[in-house]
Amino acid sequence: MHIGIAGAGVLGRLLAWRLSRAGHRVAVYDPAAGPLARGAAGWTAAGMLSPSAELECADLQVFQDGLDSIGQWSDIVAALPGAPDFDCHGSLLLAHRGDGGAARRLVDLIERKAPEGHRPQPLAPAALARLEPDIHGPSLAWFLPHEGAINPLQLMPALHAGALGVDWHWQQPVDEVGGGFLAVGGERHAFDHVFDARGLGQRPADGPAQGCADVRGVRGEIFLVRAPDVRLSRPVRLLHPRHRVYIVPRRDHHFVIGATEIESEDRSPVSLRSTVELLAAAHSVLPGLAEARLVHADTNLRPALRDNLPLIEHAAGLTRINGLFRHGWMIAPAMTARAIHQAGISLSLSGASAA
Ligand SMILES: Cc1cc2nc3c(=O)[nH]c(=O)nc-3n(C[C@H](O)[C@H](O)[C@H](O)COP(=O)(O)OP(=O)(O)OC[C@H]3O[C@@H](n4cnc5c(N)ncnc54)[C@H](O)[C@@H]3O)c2cc1C
Repeated sequence: MHIGIAGAGVLGRLLAWRLSRAGHRVAVYDPAAGPLARGAAGWTAAGMLSPSAELECADLQVFQDGLDSIGQWSDIVAALPGAPDFDCHGSLLLAHRGDGGAARRLVDLIERKAPEGHRPQPLAPAALARLEPDIHGPSLAWFLPHEGAINPLQLMPALHAGALGVDWHWQQPVDEVGGGFLAVGGERHAFDHVFDARGLGQRPADGPAQGCADVRGVRGEIFLVRAPDVRLSRPVRLLHPRHRVYIVPRRDHHFVIGATEIESEDRSPVSLRSTVELLAAAHSVLPGLAEARLVHADTNLRPALRDNLPLIEHAAGLTRINGLFRHGWMIAPAMTARAIHQAGISLSLSGASAA
């Protein structure tokens, strides 16, 4: 089939990769300057794959998609160029003694929502010290064994490079998406099927919006630091009454520290307040970060729908996907596979195996 995709974020790239591997002819349009231009939210993300912890603000479908996607990521990264990182050693929830009440409420919420086997497992201090010897300070800890992380900075280019034969149209915003066509620069391009993966770009310029088009941006600020003396093997979240702070280890002693969640579409640089609060909170559990060097700070907008849940909408010749909010990387493999299947498009043409 000849398939058009509007948007080259994680969704657009993963759709293009899956469909091109299965032998379809694919064209992707995006306003970004090129495959490495960091406009899409996916470039800023920490890459945590944490279905249980995300139950804080998600439902069981998101949980299940997250779990399925972790299995799929392991196959996808193995098939991509450059061997992108994928770790699945579990994650930790941590809290300081004074914040125990708020932390227990959150852990209770996850326990009530998570299926058996995926609930937070309390960790005694000695067990925490064995798992992560450089963590000091928090007196409460829980282990979530099925969680992991990928590195979006490696995966965004790898998904582009691995989607062989795809026609990428950079600096070409789509003006209109309809059943079987994309309108670009005043010209209509016809396709057998189109996918709308424009994130915030799905919102109409004026007038009321519904479904996938009723999207808003939720500001997130994040830091990349380098600390050669700090050891951390898995993502950790500090449960704090005011902030959700996480630290995600990356290759070569790098650590991602994030992230704010602010109801604003402000894309301006990271604020002083967020810097002070996030970095101080991270340092309070990993004191070795005191000598870390700040490598990069970034801001982006998470595409979120009214209920903060993801949505797939189908019409003749058209599939829209949106609302991946704060877990886009975590659920994109399952969401794209389901969207393609529901659109009636085969992923096993030419005998290619779909990951
Ligand atoms: C600070 C931060 C931390 C995060 N951490 C995590 C995490 O740890 N784990 C996780 O799973 N998720 C995380 N996320 C969420 C994740 O990054 C997003 O859910 C995901 O990137 C959304 O992807 P998308 O492809 O739907 O949308 P987007 O990334 O918004 O991509 C939309 C694409 O459409 C393009 N576009 C816009 N308008 C048009 C147009 N008119 N025509 C054509 N193309 C257009 C844009 O240029 C863009 O490339 C985080 C996000 C942020 C901001």
